[in-house]
Amino acid sequence: MIISTKKGTPKEELEKIVDKFEKQGLDVTLITGKDYNVFGLVGDTTKIDELANPWIDNVTRVSAPYKRANRLFHPADSIIDCGGVKIGRGEKIAVMAGPCSIEGEEQALRIANGVKAGGASLFRGGAYKPRTSPYSFQGLETEGILDMVKAREATGMPIVSELMSEDRIPEFEEYVDVVQIGARNMLNFQLHKPVLRKRGLCKTIEEWIMSAEYIMAGGNEQVILCERGIRTFEKYTRNTLDLSAVPIIHEKTHLPVIVDPSHATGKSNLVEPMMIAAVAAGADGLEVEVHYDPRHAWSDGAQCLTPDAFAQAMAKCRQVAWAIGRDM
Ligand code: PEP
Ligand code: MN
Repeated sequence: MIISTKKGTPKEELEKIVDKFEKQGLDVTLITGKDYNVFGLVGDTTKIDELANPWIDNVTRVSAPYKRANRLFHPADSIIDCGGVKIGRGEKIAVMAGPCSIEGEEQALRIANGVKAGGASLFRGGAYKPRTSPYSFQGLETEGILDMVKAREATGMPIVSELMSEDRIPEFEEYVDVVQIGARNMLNFQLHKPVLRKRGLCKTIEEWIMSAEYIMAGGNEQVILCERGIRTFEKYTRNTLDLSAVPIIHEKTHLPVIVDPSHATGKSNLVEPMMIAAVAAGADGLEVEVHYDPRHAWSDGAQCLTPDAFAQAMAKCRQVAWAIGRDM
């Protein structure tokens, strides 16, 4: 980390700054100029709250502010066991598919069977929904989770669902295999299950990694990142899918990264090409919304594939996976 102080910083203030950093276990190199002073700090700078001092002018981070997620400190790829399905580099590309919202037991079972036939290995569904409007359907809540549990019993697929508030943690710890923390939700809870950490709509890659770092610093290393599109000026798509995030996450971290082409595009005709592109980019998995009757889906019908369209898209993805030396 390189820090410069303001013009005319008194000598005693410089000494205090050096003293403080040294007490934090850092090696400090001070370069003194006529007007300005520059510090080089070497060591673990992740805990430095550098702007707290009024004499500090400019801070340049040389190393990333995250440690646990950082590939530098953990070169091997992390593989996360999601209720028996392993997700990560070197493993089979894992696909979680299902409706945006669980609408009842019959719907959940029918879609779970449909996506399993198409090659999904986890069943996703929303029981608590983060909706833009307070008047939209908010999810079946506990009933929806229990419908997913029935779908797991029937298909053997682990289940993935979004947690929206802390008071539901016991329910999720008991029933859900992978806890999704959504794009609109930067909260970090104490959880003991694998966490699917979706990228926030307006979050940089570093901020998104830092949100994973929070979960890891809290003692849970089982984090999977999910690129789901970010907000840009583009209006033809719901969000803009940032596929370059996939190789960047692999370079910067050891965590698995998956792609959600459904929320990224908002349009069912764009989902298949983006599934294929995500596999080509090296994603460790996909999260796809599927409904047998998209026009009557209770939420996000416009971006849902039918089970048949999902199976067709999966067949194309498998060919791409094969071409890049991965199994799907
Ligand atoms: C979802 O997966 O149902 C969802 C709401 O996703 P996101 O948080 O990415 O919008
Ligand atoms: Mn949705």
